[in-house]
Formats: sequence, structure tokens, C-alpha cells
Amino acid sequence: MIKVHNKATNQTVEVDRYIGRIKGADKGASIIFLAGIHGNEPSGVFALLQVLAELRETETKIKGNIYAIAGNLWALERGKRYDKKDLNRLWTASRLKKMAKNELPLEDEDSAQQIEIQRELDLILSADEGPFYFMDLHTTSSQTAPFLTVNDSLLNRKFTQQFPCASILGIEEYLTGPLLSYINELGFVSFGFEGGQHDDPAAIENHIAFIYLSLVYVGIISVSDVNYYAHFEKLKKAGAKTLGIYEIYYRFAIKAGDPFKMEPGYENFKLIRKGERLATSNGKEVIADHDSRVFMPLYQNQGDDGFFAIRPIPRFALKLSELFRNWKFDRLLPLLPGVKWASSKRDALLLDKKIAKFMAKDVMHLMGYRSRLFDKDYILVKSREAASKQEQYKNEQWFTTPF
Ligand SMILES: [Zn+2]
Repeated sequence: MIKVHNKATNQTVEVDRYIGRIKGADKGASIIFLAGIHGNEPSGVFALLQVLAELRETETKIKGNIYAIAGNLWALERGKRYDKKDLNRLWTASRLKKMAKNELPLEDEDSAQQIEIQRELDLILSADEGPFYFMDLHTTSSQTAPFLTVNDSLLNRKFTQQFPCASILGIEEYLTGPLLSYINELGFVSFGFEGGQHDDPAAIENHIAFIYLSLVYVGIISVSDVNYYAHFEKLKKAGAKTLGIYEIYYRFAIKAGDPFKMEPGYENFKLIRKGERLATSNGKEVIADHDSRVFMPLYQNQGDDGFFAIRPIPRFALKLSELFRNWKFDRLLPLLPGVKWASSKRDALLLDKKIAKFMAKDVMHLMGYRSRLFDKDYILVKSREAASKQEQYKNEQWFTTPF
């Protein structure tokens, strides 16, 4: 057991790796909540404790399994983001391969935490039948309306559109090794929820509403057994001004060791104007060169994402990309010069930079590809859809309801 303190409410609780778990009397989906992957974000831990206690007290009927897993226990106990490495950047293919062979060096507390969490996730995936849902609870260092961070697969898009708050698509293209990208690549519905500012009591309230809505949407609890509309309205009100679907198109990366200071007063989603001074990095001013919206501005000491820029995605673009992906339009791409399959599974393409210049990032996004790895001559783009376990969800209510 470790002690976790919440500055917002001045409360301290004791938790283990499992904040709690409930096995329902009836068969159903398995939902896995993760909270405190970042140790300075305890709101989700408190919210999960409260919801699970309420479900037990009210003897709410549970259809399926609920798991609430604490993230970086070492860091949660200390109120620190992490020890040496950000636990939400460690889920890379090379580390996972080493973990599978028990060869990952235990060089810091974060690696030890990763190994334990991975083991628990594996156990759940092998014990239960699914469908599986993973939700990662976070808070931000700046003030913010609640929002979802969503790896851009059609499954995720369809599921998350049920929540009355903003969705940010495509964060996986800018971050290396977040836990959710790893789970997404296994093909499951998984996304993040950011409930508010780290030490704002409203963040706990928003998390509670989000957890209840999630349990209803996956069919684990019935809409008539909880105060569904109160929770829905709570989240809707908190996120009313920012509602919409956005994409990240820019990241300001802080170089290792560079001092970085964000100008004060930047809330998430705030409009920024061309010419505005946003931050100072290594003694140089960072000036906006066009109008935009700021996302995840950094107001803490640990971390290397200075800020991101986002823009709303027009509805027609969302619809068009859904059609392209459902028609598997990407199968035709290797007919074009400079484009070839990069794997026999046909889930990745190699684009010759000289020839395939016209295959802009936006076109690849429409087709459901993300680009991350580059070399001198080629761009490797990877399908977000190929691994999707659509079969697992096809009878779920949210999947069959048109919108
Ligand atoms: Zn976080």
C-alpha cells in the first residue's frame, strides 16, 4: 500500500496497484481504467475510489468486469511526475520486446512500474473474453476544459463521439511510447481523458462523471441504474466552449537541458494570434507565425513537450476519411509510383520522398495512416486501422448505433 495525497481536497488515501476491481455477476465487457501514470496527477485515483465505493454501496448491477489500476505508484506516493523517465513514454516496441524476454534493465523506478503494469494488463487480456476498453485518466498543468486524447482509429472515433467533450485526434504521431498507442496497436478501443488542472477539485468531479458515462457506454452498468443525465450534463457544461473534434498539427519540442518558460495565462484551446510571444526557450522568444489554438502548454518542470497547436477537423473531412478507410482505399496506393508495401501484413507503406511528394501528410491521415519514422529517402507510414479488432465490438450497442 502507498499513500496518495490530493492537494485539491487535502485528502490522503492508501492504494495498491489495484485501486479496485469488481467482477460482475453477469458476463459482459471488461473496462480497464488507469490512473496516475503520471505521479503528479492523483485526481483519477480519487475519482475511481469514489465511484467503485458508490457502486458497491448502492449494489449496482454489474455486467462485465471493472478494473482500476494505479500507474506510477512510486511517483504517486511522492507527488512527482516520474522518477527518471516518463512512464507514459516507455511503451516502445524495443522496450516491449525486451520486457517479453525479461531483459529490460531495472535502471529506475519507472521501468519497474512499467513491468508490473504490463504484467497486470497481460493477465486481464488472457483471463477475460472481451470486448476490452482501456481508459487512461490524466490531468494537465494548465487550466483546461475536460477533453479526450484519441488515437485516430475508426473504432476510437465512433466510441468517443458519445462523450460530450472535445476530442483531440492524432497525438500518437507526436509522442513516442505513450501507453495508449501500445494498447491501440493491439487493436482495442483505448483513449485518454484529461479531467482538468492537476490540483483543481473540478478535475476529480469531471473524472467521476467520465467514469460513470464510460461504464454506461460499454454496457457494464445500465443507464437507469445511475444518475446518467446528471453526469452527462456535468461534463457537457464543463466542456461546452471547446466541444468539437480537433487534430494536433504541431509540437514544440524542448531540447534536452534547454530551459523553457511558457508565457503565463495560456489555457488549453486558447486562441493564439500571429506575432504573439508564447514562450521563451533557451533564451530565445517563441513567436506564433500564424493564428492557431494552443494545446497542453507546459507549466511544470518535468516533460519535454513545450506546447502543441491544434485545429478543428471539418465534418466533411471526418466523413470522407471514414469512407476511404471502410472502402480500404489504401490497397490501391502501391499502384502509384514511389509507393510500396513495407510489410507483408500490408499495414505499412514506404513512400519515396522524391517521387511521393504529393502524398501529403493530410492525404495519408484521410486513409488512416500515421507517419512517424523517416530516413533520408523514405517515409514509413503505418495504418491505424489494420490491427483494429472490429469483430470484437460489432455487436456492441455503440457500434451498431448510427450517428
Ligand atoms: Zn498525464
